[in-house]
Amino acid sequence: MTGLAYILEGAAGNFDRLVPENAKRTLHPRPTAVFSLNMPDAPPQIGFVSLGCPKNLVDTERILSRLRAEGYQLSASYQGADLVVVNTCGFIDAAVEESLDAIGEALQENGSVIVTGCLGKDEAHIREAHPQVLSVTGPHAYEAVMDAVHRQLPAPHDPFTSLLPPQGIKLTPRHYAYLKIAEGCNHSCSFCIIPDLRGTLVSRPFGEIMLEAQRLVESGVRELLVVSQDTGAYGVDSKYRPDFWQGRPVASRLKDLASALGELQAWIRLHYVYPYPHVDDLLPLMAEGHILPYLDMPMQHGNVRVLQAMKRPAAAEKVLARIARWRRECPDLTLRSTFIVGFPGETEAEFEELLEFLCEAQLDRVGCFAYSPVAGAQANNLPGALPDEIREERRARFMQRQAEISRQRLRAKIGREMVVLVDEVKEKQLVARSPADAPEIDGRVFIPGAWELEAGDFIKVRITEATAHDLRAEPVDIDEEGVG
Ligand code: SF4
Repeated sequence: MTGLAYILEGAAGNFDRLVPENAKRTLHPRPTAVFSLNMPDAPPQIGFVSLGCPKNLVDTERILSRLRAEGYQLSASYQGADLVVVNTCGFIDAAVEESLDAIGEALQENGSVIVTGCLGKDEAHIREAHPQVLSVTGPHAYEAVMDAVHRQLPAPHDPFTSLLPPQGIKLTPRHYAYLKIAEGCNHSCSFCIIPDLRGTLVSRPFGEIMLEAQRLVESGVRELLVVSQDTGAYGVDSKYRPDFWQGRPVASRLKDLASALGELQAWIRLHYVYPYPHVDDLLPLMAEGHILPYLDMPMQHGNVRVLQAMKRPAAAEKVLARIARWRRECPDLTLRSTFIVGFPGETEAEFEELLEFLCEAQLDRVGCFAYSPVAGAQANNLPGALPDEIREERRARFMQRQAEISRQRLRAKIGREMVVLVDEVKEKQLVARSPADAPEIDGRVFIPGAWELEAGDFIKVRITEATAHDLRAEPVDIDEEGVG
């Protein structure tokens, strides 16, 4: 058995910044996993101010019941509270004044204030008087109030009584997790029925996403895979509505979210980013090593007419120019995409144009589907449906062309040093992934030998061989004392 020492300061390239601080450790002896939630010793204390009519009082009772059921304690004083909820009344002018005064008092005496109740319907009015309140919701908004409380003060977790771990139930390995940031889609691509099934875009609140991400990382997750139907559109539906994270106001924009996620001790990988111009804003975060230099960007085709028939943005040339610019800005950028071939009406010349687009784009990872009709999709009504054999034959030609591109791009990595994340420790080899490889869909890095490591560990390797999809590597910075 051979020992490895991590020397992450000084690791090659921009990836240094991408390695979680808490991955820095020596292998001998192997540390026991520590389940640390950074929870305060005492349960969080909530102060509650309830104004108005009996209906409001019932709302207060319900919120208090939820708070107690989740293990929060109630504080009888502003000074003893970690957070104060003010349940307001807005029935008449005098009630509005009283509510605004109560909010002001809570802010002055405590500072961390969540507002709910009837006056909450007029958020602008409240924020004009008290811009520092952490969140504002209307009447009967129990879930929203609880979400706001969770964002400021995570619910206490008692391992003896809680049925669920704080990170919830995960179906992925312990060291990586998917983080869904929105549901639904505002596009109407003619081959897709997702907007019919899942509705239009609804972005999750910024603070709620961050809280989930933080819990995942605290539970041992080393890589967060950001997903949604259309990740680049995050916040468009809410007009980038302001939210709060760690007591600071934040705009619900992808760039800001990616930036906040990049502060966590984990790799952050973005999936399903539609090629919007504002994706440019993410590149500095990647170039600085704040998030992984990786973009999963479904392009679907490279011919303008086919893209128009698909109801996709028909600007293949602009996409190529943008890719070239991104690569200048972030040379380590890995681009993954998916395409559909054999779309109704696709001519041989249009398909050839797609192959040329592929050669020019030099994408690192590509998935390709032969067009297949989906019940309910608009594309089913388009003329020129192609026979199965042609669709399959084009898919095979497409994949053959891409395999050569991928092989060349992987070969160019031979000799480079990089940090990889271990997925599996086998008897005679490690199976790992580099920043360029998403789990399940991309390639892997195989490291021969028996190593004293665990899934979720980061190590520094040197690439020695490449195939069309995978890499082989050898570890660097071997701890000779650990050889045994
Ligand atoms: S393919 Fe993607 S972007 Fe287009 S409608 Fe479906 S989910 Fe939305």
